[in-house]
Amino acid sequence: MDSTNGRDAPTDTLGTVTVSDQPAGPCLWFGKHKGIPLPDVPTDYLLWALATVKLSSGIWAAAVAELASRGIQPPLRRESPSACWRGPCHRCGDRQVNYRWHEYRNGVRQVRASCARCGQQLGHAPRTSPYTDEADRHASETPTLDVLLLAEQEGVKIVSDGQQVHCEPWGKASEKLKDLVRQCGHQLAGLLGDTRGKGC
Ligand SMILES: [Zn+2]
Repeated sequence: MDSTNGRDAPTDTLGTVTVSDQPAGPCLWFGKHKGIPLPDVPTDYLLWALATVKLSSGIWAAAVAELASRGIQPPLRRESPSACWRGPCHRCGDRQVNYRWHEYRNGVRQVRASCARCGQQLGHAPRTSPYTDEADRHASETPTLDVLLLAEQEGVKIVSDGQQVHCEPWGKASEKLKDLVRQCGHQLAGLLGDTRGKGC
């Protein structure tokens, strides 16, 4: 003990990886983040799991709530195999789909598909033409500036954790503002730094 001063501190990691005991919160049961409480699972991995893995409704809801707490609007549960980024919308049945850039907290950009009529998120389109062209066409050339101006107009606060921004309250933001935030969330967070807990 005296020769390994500090090296044998108890490791939380071991405790959370073990799933035989009831862990501290909902966990994924598969993959490289198996047994890790959802708050410690990277956003991209959660999004991937929601999009591709058949999750139980409990884990699904927990993962959605976790993403929401990070200011990320998760994809809705796929009701049927036909519910996808091509449309039609599985909520309202409309066939017209919007494609917009969505920048994640690690800077990766995806083409977010959503129903043109009701706004239902339909997942991600491939990052290829014509979806990327469509996203480019609707992208702002000055998104970070636009976010700040529009948020001010709408009385919405932009909160940044240094990696991603979100609107507070999210529900008060217009669709246009949400689109802009999705477009440049990571970039804007880099400009603002961590603003949590600061006055304004
Ligand atoms: Zn719809």
